[in-house]
Amino acid sequence: MKSVPIKREVREVDIPSPTVSRSPSFSYSQRADLQTERVMTFPQLDSSDETLSNVTKLLNRSRKIAVLTGAGISCNAGIPDFRSSNGLYDLVKNQFPELTIRSGQEMFDISLFRDELKISVFATFMEKLYSSVQMAKPTKTHRFIAHLKNRNKLLRCYTQNIDGLEETLGLIMSRDDENRRSNGFSSIWKNLNVVQLHGDLNTLACTKCFTIFEWNRFRARSFRRGELPCCPSCEEKNFKRLQEGKRSIDSVGFLRPNIVLYGENHPTGEFIAQGLSHDIAKGKPDFLIIMGTSLKVDGVKKLVKHMSKQVHERGGVVILINKTILADSAWAGTIDYQICSDCDSWVSYLEKEIPDFFKTQEQIDKLRQLKREASELRKQKKLLEQQHSLSSIMKTPPTTPTGKDDHTLTLLDEDMNQIKRKLINEDDQISNKKFKTSSS
Ligand SMILES: [Zn+2]
Repeated sequence: MKSVPIKREVREVDIPSPTVSRSPSFSYSQRADLQTERVMTFPQLDSSDETLSNVTKLLNRSRKIAVLTGAGISCNAGIPDFRSSNGLYDLVKNQFPELTIRSGQEMFDISLFRDELKISVFATFMEKLYSSVQMAKPTKTHRFIAHLKNRNKLLRCYTQNIDGLEETLGLIMSRDDENRRSNGFSSIWKNLNVVQLHGDLNTLACTKCFTIFEWNRFRARSFRRGELPCCPSCEEKNFKRLQEGKRSIDSVGFLRPNIVLYGENHPTGEFIAQGLSHDIAKGKPDFLIIMGTSLKVDGVKKLVKHMSKQVHERGGVVILINKTILADSAWAGTIDYQICSDCDSWVSYLEKEIPDFFKTQEQIDKLRQLKREASELRKQKKLLEQQHSLSSIMKTPPTTPTGKDDHTLTLLDEDMNQIKRKLINEDDQISNKKFKTSSS
């Protein structure tokens, strides 16, 4: 197979400096107390740790949460960290015994398209990765992100993952397709939940004309054999030219997963950069959760630094949940806390610590309604009791009691008890059902 020419005429994803003015009007001094000058590390999830508990409570009160995720959140779904050389070796070593590579990065560098063996390994590996994503189920952490969206607390989830597992939970992904290309920025960005910073494994793009295609059985089979399928769009153009008696075009493009390789620019880089600066300037994030990443990629480091300024300005904090501890020096003043933990375990910890946070919007609305009704009944009862005691003080007329007021009071008591029962039931149901889906 021929080497594939790659030329993507887009600029690298770069996050512009925020232009938002620093307003002194925020008075979140109490919340800002939790901000740190050095990264504070929690080596484990300790329920008796007061600071950790305060950080959790602050999260509970936050209104717009920005989330950044990495490979660590998909590990529990069985998706290998494909950039590590082990992940790659394990998957393809039997099929390509002659392959010697020094690192996972070498296999995901744009230069791989100059080497036929590497193209074959890349194609085979991508198909394996794609099949494993098709089998995978979203984790508790993915569901937590979907829950933030449903509670209208998610500003945006930026992910370095290419698996798109969030989509199965109804989140809207930054998919590169014809629709995105033809519509304006604002209408697309405002509805986006998950921004895929490193592209999308679930679509294919032509290396020459950049047309987007879906995976299908035939294309998957071709990848499995170690071959990149030819681009139907290029082939069609070529066919038309020949029919018109023209020369055929030099080369037909190949389809490859629409992911970003090392040394390559993001296919929708400008769009994402525009969106990030929009979120930083106007998104009003008041909490940043970073999960399952060691923050090694430059673009992602910049994102965290800019977003953290905005979060701190609003009295919020930046936390990192990951199994690997970061060195404090580079992140002091940017990340406030790092929690050394599996991401799903952290979500379980939250469920115990702040159960109300996991109620659905519907449950919250229903509870509010019941509480309103109860308060209304209390008022009515108080009024009747006052009238009752007044009339007994005046004792006029001297009395054949109708029992009418007593009867109304009893009815009110019954109503009240009914509402109390509903409230208790509702709470029981919530604690029984709470995040039931997440543990499945
Ligand atoms: Zn093409």
